[in-house]
Amino acid sequence: MNVLFVASEALPFAKTGGLADVIGALPVFLRKLGVSVNVLMPRYRGIEGSPGERLTIDIGKSIEVGMYDKEGFIFIDHPSFYDRDGLYGTARGDYKDNCERYTLLCKAAVEIARRNDIDIVHCHDWQTGLIPLYLKNQKSDVKTVFTIHNLGYQGRFPSHKFDLLGIEKGYFTPDGIEYYGDINFLKAGIVYADRVTTVSENYALEIQTPELGFGLDGVLRQRKNDLSGIINGIDYEVWNPASDALIPEPYADFQGKQHNKICFNQECNLRCDHPVIGMVSRIADQKGFDLIIKIFDDIMKLGFNFILLGVGDEAYHRKLKQFEQVYPSRVSINLKFDEKLAHRIYAGSDFFLMPSQYEPCGLGQLISLKYGTVPIVRQTGGLADTVTEFDSAGQTGNGFLFKSYTPNALLDALSRAYQAFTNSDSFASLSERCMQYDFSWDESAKKYKRLYESL
Ligand code: ADP
Repeated sequence: MNVLFVASEALPFAKTGGLADVIGALPVFLRKLGVSVNVLMPRYRGIEGSPGERLTIDIGKSIEVGMYDKEGFIFIDHPSFYDRDGLYGTARGDYKDNCERYTLLCKAAVEIARRNDIDIVHCHDWQTGLIPLYLKNQKSDVKTVFTIHNLGYQGRFPSHKFDLLGIEKGYFTPDGIEYYGDINFLKAGIVYADRVTTVSENYALEIQTPELGFGLDGVLRQRKNDLSGIINGIDYEVWNPASDALIPEPYADFQGKQHNKICFNQECNLRCDHPVIGMVSRIADQKGFDLIIKIFDDIMKLGFNFILLGVGDEAYHRKLKQFEQVYPSRVSINLKFDEKLAHRIYAGSDFFLMPSQYEPCGLGQLISLKYGTVPIVRQTGGLADTVTEFDSAGQTGNGFLFKSYTPNALLDALSRAYQAFTNSDSFASLSERCMQYDFSWDESAKKYKRLYESL
């Protein structure tokens, strides 16, 4: 079976969030199952390679693109579109030509699928949403799977861009890709793909409700017979405290973890006598920063240290930085993207915080479990599928959850976590139990393979 993945980011080449982890890892596990997979993505700045074939693609005007093949990846090269500082935009906002940039990716994907005898194109997120439409429009035999990694990002563009898509006006209707007068790439993927998936079973249900459907719940309900959830996995070659070269000292038990915690707190110039909450996150509304900011002083009063690594919304950046000035020996705010520091936070924290408004799957909590770092999460999406409340009496559960999206509910979960921390024997066994969970890709890769076979 010949599968072409198309995505806008993938490790080890370009990453802003969990999508890149998934696209970097899942093909490796599918290949182990005998599925032939190549990944198509844009050639962003810094991706090396030597020129191969050239294609001419029409997006209202003819565009010449180069193709670069490298170890299971095919890069689409068009420097004026992709050789930029950011992937999707700058701190000031999205690039104004994202419609053109990702239409080019979709059209190139369709052409590459045709030339390479592809059976299935597996499309990921809005940037690839036009591919199923184009293939249906050509009455192609190639089947499509469209995976939603985050329904909150839809690729909405004004209708005056429609002509560059190169399809008949008949597609621009509420049954097609129109969404309140705009073009909606994500909707195109949902409407025209043969199968639609998302990245946890719980999120597959939640997105069919008005609360978490981002205006597309009706469209998703229409596709409910073709919609399923497959939980993301973790690549334990990358995320494994026992072999992690990026942390102070690899470890496989609680004692080893404590050593990392002390080294890491010292590195951050923080006091070592407090439980540490770590966060590695895009700084966006979705991730619950409004709640954290409202109760930050209470978090300090409870007695936690707080270490954050993240980048995103500048309004949050400013507020979070202020806390570092108020609590210099207990708070470390790192506003950047830094793979090494991320590993050190997963290893050097006692708790990992994800108070998300919604969370399709969430990788942070899965990584933190492997590092024995106890997750404190909101009970939503994939977080609810993977974290269960700790019960000290029965010594069951792997974290702390809160349901209602309110500062008090979060504070309550944090208090329970702090309480658990004060019983050091019980906390050590909780941490070690977390390390035992297996969220590897093996099972989920099998599910994707079965889905491909069903097509
Ligand atoms: P999302 O995909 O919504 O951003 P996930 O929890 O699914 O959230 O995945 C986030 C991934 O990105 C994790 O691998 C996390 O470690 C990583 N990450 C997020 N922000 C940063 C950052 N500033 N530096 C390094 N890694 C980051």
